Amino acid sequence: MPESASVRSMPAPPTLISEDEIRARVASLAAEIDAAYAGKDQLVLIGVLKGSFIFLADLARRLTIPHRVEFIAVSSYGDRESEHADSVRLLMDVRHAIDSEHVLLVEDIVDTGHTLAYLKRLLGARSPASLRTCTLLHKPDRTEQVVDLDFLGFTIPDVWVVGYGLDYAERYRTLPYIGELPPEMR
Ligand code: 5GP
Repeated sequence: MPESASVRSMPAPPTLISEDEIRARVASLAAEIDAAYAGKDQLVLIGVLKGSFIFLADLARRLTIPHRVEFIAVSSYGDRESEHADSVRLLMDVRHAIDSEHVLLVEDIVDTGHTLAYLKRLLGARSPASLRTCTLLHKPDRTEQVVDLDFLGFTIPDVWVVGYGLDYAERYRTLPYIGELPPEMR
């Protein structure tokens, strides 16, 4: 069954951030990014798969500055919870070199901070002209590793969120809003 059909048949998680709120915030983030990189040749947006794919698609279409899109994938949350909580594995690298490029890492959510810290180390070692981060959601209560969040959409409490690209066991990614998934719905 296609995912969109399976989402429709599942009970809807309660709304934490509505479609309208997301749309408005993505537009203002794009304006902030446009202003921050005004006059630069080209920005490279690197989306962290899978969770950022919808956010990145909406953000990129709002930007007016020249940019190209890349993707990178790292090990999933579940893998890490079981063993070494702070170890992140690279599953898929970007296609092109980023040396001397202005790079903006686009993440769905920063929880403990380990993923973003790992990605900043990895990409920072490749001599980009600049490296900043854009994160839709941040759970400050869960921070274990502090990473600069240059562009941030929303700060949220320590709850499990789904929708707008974020999943629970690959479900709920195509919900148009960000919902809070209570334990009884997992
Ligand atoms: P961190 O390395 O900051 O602990 O975790 C970042 C990753 O954990 C995110 O990219 C995401 O895959 C996952 N994650 C953390 N919290 C949530 C959440 O509430 N919902 C979902 N769907 N994923 C989350």
